[in-house]
Amino acid sequence: MSKGLPKRSEDYSLWYNELVKRADLAENSAVRGCMVIKPYGYSIWEKIQAQLDIMFKETGHSNAYFPLFIPKSYLSKEASHIEGFAKECAVVTHYRLKNSEDGKSVIVDPDAKLEEELIVRPTSETVIWSTYKNWIQSYRDLPLLVNQWANVVRWEMRTRLFLRTSEFLWQEGHTAHATKQEAIDETVQMMNVYAQFAQEFMALPVVKGVKTENERFAGAVDTYCIEAMMQDGKALQAGTSHFLGQNFAKAFDVKFATKEGGLEYVWGTSWGVSTRLMGALIMAHSDDNGLVLPPKLAPIQVVIIPIYRGDAELEILSIKAKEIMAKLKAKGISVKFDNRDTFKPGWKFAEYELKGVPIRIALGPRDLENNSLEIARRDTLTKETIHLDGVILEDYIIGLLDEIQENIYQKAFSFKNEMTTEADTWEEFQSILDNKGGFVSAHWDGTTATEEKIKELSKATIRCIPLDRKEEEGKCILTGQPSSGRVLFARAY
Ligand code: AMP
Repeated sequence: MSKGLPKRSEDYSLWYNELVKRADLAENSAVRGCMVIKPYGYSIWEKIQAQLDIMFKETGHSNAYFPLFIPKSYLSKEASHIEGFAKECAVVTHYRLKNSEDGKSVIVDPDAKLEEELIVRPTSETVIWSTYKNWIQSYRDLPLLVNQWANVVRWEMRTRLFLRTSEFLWQEGHTAHATKQEAIDETVQMMNVYAQFAQEFMALPVVKGVKTENERFAGAVDTYCIEAMMQDGKALQAGTSHFLGQNFAKAFDVKFATKEGGLEYVWGTSWGVSTRLMGALIMAHSDDNGLVLPPKLAPIQVVIIPIYRGDAELEILSIKAKEIMAKLKAKGISVKFDNRDTFKPGWKFAEYELKGVPIRIALGPRDLENNSLEIARRDTLTKETIHLDGVILEDYIIGLLDEIQENIYQKAFSFKNEMTTEADTWEEFQSILDNKGGFVSAHWDGTTATEEKIKELSKATIRCIPLDRKEEEGKCILTGQPSSGRVLFARAY
């Protein structure tokens, strides 16, 4: 294999970019800000999708699909929505190309100008609420609980593979309700679903909270979010769930006949997570040797590598390997037997370390004699020889996968706690940000002006007002004005 990865401690950003490429997750494409997700990376995304899809369906949602293009006039119907997204919109103006006069190139046909420009969806509230107008007439049509798996385009200026791309894959839930309370409950429920997914499957502890007005989704009344901490001390918004009030119902005139015979605007929510979760997964757990994947999202959970000399030995080991594979597969464990003779075992060890496979089994002739296996853990980089007499291998592996999942979570959990610091003065605040990083829990006077001033001076933003914060009298770290509770600041991706 080529030389090792850059070290996290030396250049975190370079380490991340190199890891994404070398672990075969994704690469940049010809179009700036758009990425190619490679098969190994996509197989992790598929695991994320599959689990979330189960959780969405368990909470009553169904999938549907809406168009990629949105008429410009739709996007402009909700004033703050268009204001928020205008700067990032890709616009389709023509529908045909033609040969240039000299025949040497292809140009946009000026005669094929669209009457109304189309926006490549940056998010689908507008196109979906224009459809909901036809779907919702009465209280009997509610609630409407729909999710869509799709790609969206936001013309981002500063991009980074997975974390912030111009085109990204995501899911967007869009629900409609008869009452305000029901819509708020839905918004909170989906934030909780995201938090549960992050914690149980991604092994990623998150802070649940509400965004400030300044950081709120364009068109929402309230934005709930989950925030995660990366190993370099920067925060990452990992998912958002929006209470839309009646904003989109009013913009698209979506009313319903109530049980009591009245006519009222519908209440809405929307919520999304994107391929950014891939970035979170990589940044939160991986080390200088490569990816560290939580077993629940690892495309390959166990790899078996034969250590052999000559075909005859390989053949004997293969029989044992296939036996092991069958046992593990029967228990739903994804296992790969890498019997390629084009690579040496040492190369394979490094390769699967780089790819984050949680368990590696090395199998040599001596193991056959001793009825043993060498089992290595990716998370701790430790290995041990297991004697199989009296051991049910599949149960042992299941136990070990659970232990690895838990260990990765606990490590990230302790890190997040260590990286959450209280500051009571402006000097403390700045010193923590500059020397330690992480979340800084501090008082803020509640105004957008102060929030923006703090951002300008420190590059830290308010990540959220944590849902579990204590009522506490204090003074804003910048202005000294009174505050009734701390908020979480951080420099963020
Ligand atoms: P939003 O619709 O702005 O609330 O975003 C929904 C989800 O997509 C959030 O979880 C964001 O973290 C994520 N997201 C927003 N912009 C990008 C981007 N440029 N690339 C990847 N993910 C994004």
